[in-house]
Amino acid sequence: MTMDTLAVHAGREDLTALGLHALPIDLSTTNPLPNIEKGGDSYETLATGGTPIEGGSNVYARLWNPTVARFESGLAQLEHAEAAVAFASGMAALSAAILAFTVSTNKRHVVAVRPLYGGTDHLLATGLLGTEVTFCDASDVASAVREDTGLVIMETPANPTLELVSISRVATQAGDVPLLVDNTFATPILQNPLDHGAAMSMHSATKYLGGHGDVIGGVIACSEAHAQMLRPIRAITGAILHPLAAYLLHRGLTTLPLRVRAQQANAVRVAEWLGTQDAVEQVYFPGMNADPDGVLGAQMTGPGAMVAIKLKGGAAAAERLTGAVQIFTHAVSLGGVDSLIENPAALTHRPVAGDAKPDAGIVRMSIGLESPEDLIADLARGL
Ligand SMILES: *Cc1c(COP(=O)(O)O)cnc(C)c1O
Repeated sequence: MTMDTLAVHAGREDLTALGLHALPIDLSTTNPLPNIEKGGDSYETLATGGTPIEGGSNVYARLWNPTVARFESGLAQLEHAEAAVAFASGMAALSAAILAFTVSTNKRHVVAVRPLYGGTDHLLATGLLGTEVTFCDASDVASAVREDTGLVIMETPANPTLELVSISRVATQAGDVPLLVDNTFATPILQNPLDHGAAMSMHSATKYLGGHGDVIGGVIACSEAHAQMLRPIRAITGAILHPLAAYLLHRGLTTLPLRVRAQQANAVRVAEWLGTQDAVEQVYFPGMNADPDGVLGAQMTGPGAMVAIKLKGGAAAAERLTGAVQIFTHAVSLGGVDSLIENPAALTHRPVAGDAKPDAGIVRMSIGLESPEDLIADLARGL
């Protein structure tokens, strides 16, 4: 099936047999046990990362929830993955991956390719989870990997300047060390990291997957073997996605291809117009940036709908622009149907160490579904 058909149908395979058409929401926190032996076996299987056993029970909602599992199945199919594991937020997903592949395996070193989302950079830099990090460029991953490296982390397009990084190039350098790619900006519609050698594709589902700015969640698509390492961490730390959020995210998948393509078409229009403006020193947008590895086309099928600019007037110009726009909302986050604008140095990338922090004159935009003419007029007023 093609992406468009999968987006509408994946993860709904059991509904007809249940006599249902829309996705059911199962809010049970606990589940009846058939008998002590089967109940115990079910608990043991789920707590150690397995999937529900025949004739068993889901036991307790921190271990397994059917509404969450349907969303996971849908997302896994869009990512060409065997499995997916869903979490209460993108940061909960990332934390679980770090714990599962470093602390749990006693390989506490992480190699992280900069630039990264500010929260990711901060979590690794503080070593809060008991890890040690080496930050590096995409070309230096091989020399940064050590005997005790448990995980390599990268992001493409990278936050906030939309740099494109070749996943296969990093995966080759990572060797046997699993590579996690933050695929939040590209979405499975434009990029499938597992097809290029990544072990895991992670999403802040809060962004494009939900798409309406009203749900927070995270998900990792991976092999079933890796899912079995992530699920026990999720169960122990209590990081499972809420079933109401899973319902909204699964429903969001149905329009994901349409939203991403329409928002991307708007972003192309806005980015091209920004390139003609005197107040703009530089536009950061895939296709307008340098792309030495030929990522656009081969790895990512389109530029996406995130645009950043560097303003000639620096921080003061960023303050004026974000304050003057009326259709764009001055707010962090991204990927929803409405356009947002923010200053990464002050907000999303505030916790990033000085040398890696973006320039104060950079403004990042998430382009929505409004008419591009209206968005351009709004930015013209602001500039
Ligand atoms: C928002 C975001 C995250 C964190 O996700 P939350 O859902 O906010 O926890 C991670 N990576 C990227 C690229 C993001 O945009």
